[in-house]
Amino acid sequence: MKIDRVLANNSGPFTGPGTNTWILDDGNGSVVIIDPGPVDSRHARAILDMIGRRTLEAVLVTHTHVDHAPMANPLAKDFDVPAVGHAPGPQFDPDIRLLDGARFDVGSLRLDVIHTPGHSNDHLCFRAGDALFTGDHIMGGSSVMVEAMGPYLASLEKLKGKGLRTLHPGHGDEMDDPDTVFDWYLAHRRQRHEQIYQAIAAGSRTVSDVVEVVYADVDSSLHPLAARSVQAHLTLLNDEGRIPLRGDEVVVSPRVP
Ligand SMILES: [Zn+2]
Repeated sequence: MKIDRVLANNSGPFTGPGTNTWILDDGNGSVVIIDPGPVDSRHARAILDMIGRRTLEAVLVTHTHVDHAPMANPLAKDFDVPAVGHAPGPQFDPDIRLLDGARFDVGSLRLDVIHTPGHSNDHLCFRAGDALFTGDHIMGGSSVMVEAMGPYLASLEKLKGKGLRTLHPGHGDEMDDPDTVFDWYLAHRRQRHEQIYQAIAAGSRTVSDVVEVVYADVDSSLHPLAARSVQAHLTLLNDEGRIPLRGDEVVVSPRVP
C-alpha cells in the first residue's frame, strides 16, 4: 500500500492546516480517495495530479461535514466511479452506503469499515492493514468537536487494543502509537466532563455559561465549536442522571456529592 496526502486550501480555526485528502494505492495502481474536501478547483487539480495515470476506483468520505465530503459526488461522477459513505448528508449522496463491519476492496487493497459515531452520527473510520484513516474522530494536534458524547466515548473505546500502528487524520499530521492517542482523547473528554459538571455545581446554567468558565483558556474563535461539545457533555450528564437538563439549560441546582 502507498499513501499520499493532498492538503486542501481551507485552513482556518475549525480546520487547522486544512482538510487532508488521502490517496491510497494498492501497490498496483488502483487508488481510492478518502475525503476529497470542499468543492475547489485548485484542490481538485492537486488531487488529479497526485493520482496521475493510476486508476481511481472510488471516492470515500469519512463523514458529511462540509470540509470533507462536498467534492466527492462531482469527482466520482467525472471518473464514473462510486461515491461511498455511511449515509447521505449536506452536499453528499452516496452511491454505496457502508455499515459497521463492512469490507471495501480497492484492487488488492482491503479496507475495513468501522462506524464511529460521535463527532457526527454518520462518521466512519477506514482501516487498511495496521493504518487507520480517522477523519475527524481523531485530529492531529487537537481534540475534536463532539456532537454526541456517549457514542463518541464508545467509538474511542472500540478502537483500542486492535493492533493499529498509525493514524491518518482528517486534519493535522499522522500519528504513531494509536492506543496512547485514544487514551489521551478519552482522558481529555472525561476531564472536560468533570469540569463541566463542576461548573454547573458552581452555578453555570447554560451552554454559554459553561463555555465561558471551562473554555476560558481557549481562543474565543473556537467557542462556537466548544459550545457543541458542551451541549453533548450536558446531554450525557443528563443521561447519567447527574444533572436535570431542558434544552441547553440546567433547570434546577444539582446536588454536589
Ligand atoms: Zn467534521
